[in-house]
Amino acid sequence: QVDVLPLPGADAATPSFLLFLMRDKTAERSIEKMRTDFVANASHELRTPLASLIGFIETLQGPARNDVAAREKFLNIMREQAGRMSRLIDDLLSLSRIETKPRIDADERADLAVILSSICDAMEKRAAEAGLAFSLQLDTESGVVNGNHDELAQVFANLAENAVKYAGGGEKVVLGVRPVDREPALLEAYVQDFGRGIPAEHVPRLTERFYRVEDGAASKAAGTGLGLSIVRNILQRHGTRLQVHSEAGIGTVFSIRLRKASQ
Ligand code: ADP
Repeated sequence: QVDVLPLPGADAATPSFLLFLMRDKTAERSIEKMRTDFVANASHELRTPLASLIGFIETLQGPARNDVAAREKFLNIMREQAGRMSRLIDDLLSLSRIETKPRIDADERADLAVILSSICDAMEKRAAEAGLAFSLQLDTESGVVNGNHDELAQVFANLAENAVKYAGGGEKVVLGVRPVDREPALLEAYVQDFGRGIPAEHVPRLTERFYRVEDGAASKAAGTGLGLSIVRNILQRHGTRLQVHSEAGIGTVFSIRLRKASQ
């Protein structure tokens, strides 16, 4: 929130002052709207699994009290719903932690090669279960950039998770770092999958909070719709953006340009 005070000696009714005041009010209103939308969305997302949990508890206390088979089935569903709530709360906390942080410091360092290779190791088992092989492609001598290690690790973990969730059948996922044409000060890290791709009309909205592409396979995958908004917020703190290149039936490349660390 910004307080607008007239400059000493300035007339509060001058047009330039009024314009400034109006702009400021508009910005305030839109931030306020974003906040109330966010609270409404978050409550809705939490209420859905909670309502289902309450429903199953009532059934287990009533009609299904002595039905052993039904009890087992309902308890499994309840565990899934509770897991969903817990993921949502984790994501909401991550988002609010990041949103309150200022831009990263100029002396923070992160090594993209280290981050990507540890993600490859961590994902290997889950990826194999989904029929995917993870590989690492390092086309630079050094992957050291100006960035926060933990936050960038979260960015690439979210992108790698999505590749496993949504790009099954694509055989492989490549994580890599490469130089940027005509921009020697930058490095580009990417996560490429060969899955079904994302229809063009959804691409501009991917990083909105709670946005999920509605199609049969995607809506079945466990997700909160917050993963890519966390990515966007972290990248904003790093002064960069998520780039997406996707083609239906061919796959998706998410890439991020970061400034090389000065030696
Ligand atoms: P979540 O995965 O929790 O739903 P995200 O914000 O991480 O939320 O992703 C938003 C949506 O973008 C997903 O629901 C999915 O439909 C789509 N998506 C993300 N990554 C991919 C991918 N690699 N291939 C296809 N669709 C994807």
